[in-house]
Amino acid sequence: MTHHRTVIVGTGFSGIGMAVRLLEDGERDFVLLERADELGGTWRDNTYPGCRCDVPSHLYSFSFAPNPNWSSTFSPQPEILEYLRGVARRFGVLDHVRFGCELELADWDEQRSRWRLETSQGGITADVLVCGQGPLSEPKLPEIGGLDSFEGTLFHSAAWNHEHDLRGERVAVIGTGASAIQFVPRIQPEAGRLYVYQRTPPWVMPHPNRPMKPFERRLYGRLPLAQLAMRAAIYWARESFVLQFRHRRMRRLATRMALRQLEQQVPDRELRERLTPRYEMGCKRILPTDEWYPALMQPNVELVTGGIREIRGRSVVSADGSEREVDTIILATGFHVTDLPIASAIRGREGRTLADVWDGSPRAYKGASVAGFPNFFFLVGPNTGLGHNSIVFMIESQINYVADALATMRRRGLETVEVREGAQAAYNQELEELTRGTVWVTGGCASYYIDRNGRNSSLWPYFTWPFRKRTRQFDEEAYALGPSAPEPAPAG
Ligand SMILES: Cc1cc2nc3c(=O)[nH]c(=O)nc-3n(C[C@H](O)[C@H](O)[C@H](O)COP(=O)(O)OP(=O)(O)OC[C@H]3O[C@@H](n4cnc5c(N)ncnc54)[C@H](O)[C@@H]3O)c2cc1C
Repeated sequence: MTHHRTVIVGTGFSGIGMAVRLLEDGERDFVLLERADELGGTWRDNTYPGCRCDVPSHLYSFSFAPNPNWSSTFSPQPEILEYLRGVARRFGVLDHVRFGCELELADWDEQRSRWRLETSQGGITADVLVCGQGPLSEPKLPEIGGLDSFEGTLFHSAAWNHEHDLRGERVAVIGTGASAIQFVPRIQPEAGRLYVYQRTPPWVMPHPNRPMKPFERRLYGRLPLAQLAMRAAIYWARESFVLQFRHRRMRRLATRMALRQLEQQVPDRELRERLTPRYEMGCKRILPTDEWYPALMQPNVELVTGGIREIRGRSVVSADGSEREVDTIILATGFHVTDLPIASAIRGREGRTLADVWDGSPRAYKGASVAGFPNFFFLVGPNTGLGHNSIVFMIESQINYVADALATMRRRGLETVEVREGAQAAYNQELEELTRGTVWVTGGCASYYIDRNGRNSSLWPYFTWPFRKRTRQFDEEAYALGPSAPEPAPAG
């Protein structure tokens, strides 16, 4: 069994960013476990047509690795994947990655104060386990009777079947969230017939995306400070968006803009009616696109509302009994967010898993540490997701916190650090107060931000700069610090 000081799970923004930081801090004894054969996380898996980020690229990238060459202000998936590959190569991360290696079980060994890991490539032990497994990395399948025995082609948007030709086919898309609104306009011209099954209409805003001008690229290439200034401007502009989620009157203008776009793009009153959200804007993720409504109005597209009863043979049967025969079903049904499968695979003290302890409501301290789980850290853990700004900002904040925890352990010769129950409870109490009254819990929708107990366990509900401030330093006083490691016994 090999042993490492630190094991990191995942090679998305989180895992790569953490590895770069460890290397900068002079740490060499670490490994990244990646179940796939390639790095990139979200941006490796989501290859559907039209996939791109919905936070501007200048901000949706590492602060320590600006890229002057983005082709557009909101870059497409292949560019983001290439960017991540480039960062990993440039900073020497690849030497530390074990590809095709899935973490299957992690057990805290109380006797030896270390993690025992079972992976698809055998056992590993680690002093510290850092999980960057991804907030949206486990595709969710809808519970629709007969889906398993559908006789045509079926795939999820996060595992796009590029071998399959949609030209001339009858295609059903189930779901109208962030992925569907990006790929439906791309596949609409190809499909013979396209049925879009909508449960709840999304709030849609005009998309500010535009190609990056050659002079901008030259400027950012020659003058990195200019790009830094642009990044800061975008950050502060987006930061102000949080007010819309917290105060109803602050979202009036955005709501009017969205409704105006709907009215301008969808003249058909009946269709418009079905596309008008009946919950408040911001309750679910707001989706930027200029192409969604025009695609839905094409003659080969039908918007089907009212729910799905079952899949029968090659047909999708609606709740009203109407039946539509299709060749392909594309599931755009999102991800497991508050019910992460990895929570059942991590066992802390007394053999309790994260899933046992959480009981449907993920909780952590600063989105990173969980009481009962020593020497364990999350990146993008509970309550670090965002509705208004770049998650990379949160990831970098957490990386700094974890790196400082590791440095503290080393400096003080500590064997274990474990967040105190009281500190975690107080932190979560504060989160609950910050969430109260926000649109996420009062907006009248069901969203993936809210767990099965009705609690916001995924979003950081406030400005992000206070989070950065709070993660600047590892706060020892919130932790039970294990004894110093014993001196090694003299040889012989
Ligand atoms: C289509 C799409 C678009 C998005 N757009 C934006 C956006 O514009 N702005 C924004 O802020 N956020 C966006 N997000 C959210 C996005 O997930 C995060 O921004 C970010 O990419 C998360 O990075 P990560 O490294 O934490 O997780 P991921 O990128 O998901 O990486 C996690 C990695 O861990 C690996 N892994 C998981 N479990 C195991 C295991 N048990 N063993 C070994 N390896 C494992 C996975 O294979 C994966 O490579 C988007 C998400 C999706 C799906």
